[in-house]
Amino acid sequence: MSLIPIPQEFINELLARVDIVQLIDARVPLRKKGKNYIACCPFHSEKTPSFTVTPEKQFYYCFGCSVGGNAFSFLMEYEKLSFIEAVSLLAEQIGMEIPQPIRHQEVYRGSTHLYDVLEKVTQFYAKELRQNTLAINYLKQRGLSGEIAKKFNLGYAPAAWDTLLKTFKDTENLFAAGLLVKKSEGQGYYDRFRDRVLFPIRDRRGRVIGLGGRALSEQEPKYLNSPETPLFRKGKELYGLYETLQQNRQLERVLVVEGYMDVLALFQADLPFAVATLGTATNRDQISRLMSCTQEIIFCFDGDMAGQKAAWRVLEQSLDLLTDGYIFRFLLLPNGEDPDSLIQKKGRTEFVTYLQQAQSLAEFLFNYLLAQVDINQLEGKARLAKLAAPLIGKVAAGIMQHKLFEQLAALVNMDVMTLKKVIHSHKTPSIKTLQKKINKSSRINRSSPMRLAIALLVQFPQIIQSLSVSQCDALRTLELPGSALLIKLFELLKQKSELTSAMLLEYCRQDESQYKTLKQLINYPLAIPESGAQAEFHDLLKYFKKTAVETEIDKLLQQGKQGGLNEKEKKYLYDLMLNNFNDK
Ligand SMILES: [Zn+2]
Repeated sequence: MSLIPIPQEFINELLARVDIVQLIDARVPLRKKGKNYIACCPFHSEKTPSFTVTPEKQFYYCFGCSVGGNAFSFLMEYEKLSFIEAVSLLAEQIGMEIPQPIRHQEVYRGSTHLYDVLEKVTQFYAKELRQNTLAINYLKQRGLSGEIAKKFNLGYAPAAWDTLLKTFKDTENLFAAGLLVKKSEGQGYYDRFRDRVLFPIRDRRGRVIGLGGRALSEQEPKYLNSPETPLFRKGKELYGLYETLQQNRQLERVLVVEGYMDVLALFQADLPFAVATLGTATNRDQISRLMSCTQEIIFCFDGDMAGQKAAWRVLEQSLDLLTDGYIFRFLLLPNGEDPDSLIQKKGRTEFVTYLQQAQSLAEFLFNYLLAQVDINQLEGKARLAKLAAPLIGKVAAGIMQHKLFEQLAALVNMDVMTLKKVIHSHKTPSIKTLQKKINKSSRINRSSPMRLAIALLVQFPQIIQSLSVSQCDALRTLELPGSALLIKLFELLKQKSELTSAMLLEYCRQDESQYKTLKQLINYPLAIPESGAQAEFHDLLKYFKKTAVETEIDKLLQQGKQGGLNEKEKKYLYDLMLNNFNDK
């Protein structure tokens, strides 16, 4: 999907107009303390507040769990939005119109009415449900209470072919929202959902983007979803995620199931942490999204052959997303059962027992592969190694990967080193792995002068005023980790002196490592008062200049030792040394 960046000017303007204190206070009540505001952190559990909002910097930071950022970051973390969603939400609140189509053109331009249409129709169908005994009885018979029906805003579409057409008359938009079907013979439309119980599908912000319908009569298909529309992308959405997060923002785990009824049955049984994929196999987008909400994902499947194969495909897809700190588990239910049927038949307690027995990723991986080989034979061992090693190689290097290699090593009587060679013999490291290695080596030293300089500049952007661009020239010849970031900030502030800390951060969002560094340094505890910041920054620039000169001198001296200096270079070296001496 192409992503057209939002103009930086727009981001600046938005950040200048939004008040982070108000924004956060509306979600997490804040208390004033000195210049700042504090609260108990919404991102980790604590009894004494360490979550701090600084109006001056338009920034928040938690001294307990180190989360921090500007208004966008807060919305992204708290409401689980993407960057673009956070921007459009803020823009909407403030009444600024996003200048450029960003992504899915239609979604962000002129499609607000589609949300309205869907919301109105959802409310209409909900009203219909309350008046239809047959539909109510169906839900009761499936064990659902009125409370759950209300929470999920369930509805009923009457059996007629033209209920929506007659009630709303807004044909074009109803069609665009996927609620009408065009007649194949010439002109006209009819209602897509007829005589069905309806399950509204909400996006992360709680807006209805589509509907799922379960037939009440013998109608085919039994389950019918909205088609793809500008608002509704099947592979992206997860039914129940919004409601689950409303219930609990600090989700310990999430259970991924197949159907709406499974989600509802689990909620009804007071297990409110299930989401359903919408008739598609769980994909990487969905897994990544769940990883931003919780640390533990349990994938649930029917235990039959088809279910096991589906589970295996999810495992293959999720391996390279798995990093230390996350837990993926696989729950294979008895043949032919789903969570809904199992809870109806055996009750909550028994289902919880199944849940506790969900296999870890390692268990499922080895169980599945062991079923295909005879591990008692040498050939079987070799085959297992060949099948499993490349898969384990996909997991991010870390404790988890190491444990998997150890388990495999024990199963096949090989040592871990040899197993690792199995992968490397026909696989070269990916660009991504290489990049990670590079990032690691250029990470800025904890308390280096560079770190201090960046922290000063981003915390007190006004100190730049007395400086000229040429004063960061020395940095350009120095290949110190972080110098690129410092130069970038320096130049930005020279062009736009009004930029605040929160705005500077936005200029670095595209560069993961710069963004991370800057986020930390905005909160880096400086032992220097604001009044001393300028002098300190000057000293640091002087220090960098001196380092640059000394590096140059060293280089020339080395070259000289090998007899490689011409007259011009000798003169240059002499000048450098003289200046350097005078500066002291
Ligand atoms: Zn915290």
